[in-house]
Amino acid sequence: MDDLKFGTRNKRGDYAPNARLESAPLFVWPPRPAKLLAWLPHYFLPWNALFFAFGSVIWFYATPAKETLANFDWRWIGYLWLRNSAIVFVLYGLMELRLYIRRAQGNRFKFNGLFPADKKSDVFLFKSQNIDNFVRSFGTGVPIWTAYEVVMLHLWAIGWGPWTTFEANPWALVILGLLIPLIHEAHFFCIHWLIHQGPLYKYVHSVHHNSVNPSPWSSLSMHPVEHLLYWSDILIHLVFPSHPLLVLYHLQLSGTGAVVGHIGFDKVEVGEGAINTQAYSHYLHHKYFEVNYSDGLVPFDRWFGTFHDGSKDGEAQMEKRFAAKRARMNKTQS
Ligand SMILES: [Zn+2]
Ligand SMILES: [Zn+2]
Repeated sequence: MDDLKFGTRNKRGDYAPNARLESAPLFVWPPRPAKLLAWLPHYFLPWNALFFAFGSVIWFYATPAKETLANFDWRWIGYLWLRNSAIVFVLYGLMELRLYIRRAQGNRFKFNGLFPADKKSDVFLFKSQNIDNFVRSFGTGVPIWTAYEVVMLHLWAIGWGPWTTFEANPWALVILGLLIPLIHEAHFFCIHWLIHQGPLYKYVHSVHHNSVNPSPWSSLSMHPVEHLLYWSDILIHLVFPSHPLLVLYHLQLSGTGAVVGHIGFDKVEVGEGAINTQAYSHYLHHKYFEVNYSDGLVPFDRWFGTFHDGSKDGEAQMEKRFAAKRARMNKTQS
């Protein structure tokens, strides 16, 4: 597939799609119902539907019975940890294998012209981005995700919290299920902005940003404090009437789903066609740091002036903002 029909490549080999990034037409004034309807399938496809399917399979076929969950026991806790590790290992691993090890589509649609494995850097454990990402993801990422899952499923099993069933409150659960991607985005924008401030950035979030050129293994490569904050949105299920199926969907969306922004390619070729990854917004965040704190489902970055739409205009606005910030800092220092 000719990627230059959809974008441009600069002298360094970095690819940029032609289409500007747009926020979802959910929060626009005046409302644009025709645009909203045309966009609606993208709310579900491909990612949210995929993570809902993962959550459903896990709930129906790979979660212990309620009586088991009611008592803490290392056997079922260990099982959840192994199951989550296996999902991440297989899904991320397959993407890495195809796109980064076999390099099945070469550089086509790849935002950064270089592959992480080709560049050694002192900021990483063992000077390798892949090893560093791997150790952090499986060392603290999946265990902290699993700990949240263990606590939530246990609280459901002992009946602590506003849990309900699809028979008793179908609409409440459908509405919460539909809102989960929005809740996750709102929470992520807030904690993400927070950990970009002062010492929190220096000691915590910089670990994730070491991967300036992210690949799937970078998705959950974070400091443990960021892991704790990142998955804390799951506590919303102790506030609104919910069901463990929605908890598992939510954890898949935020856990496995962290890969969405870190694929590193604008499109993944499949046969004669290609799937849009929706990864460009977060790639720009890794490249420029203080832009695109959220992924555009809710236009927080537009509202707070941190949006970069990937165009030359977007770049100029960002530079203007960075220059103003530098001037402010110089003024306070002098
Ligand atoms: Zn990231
Ligand atoms: Zn960040």
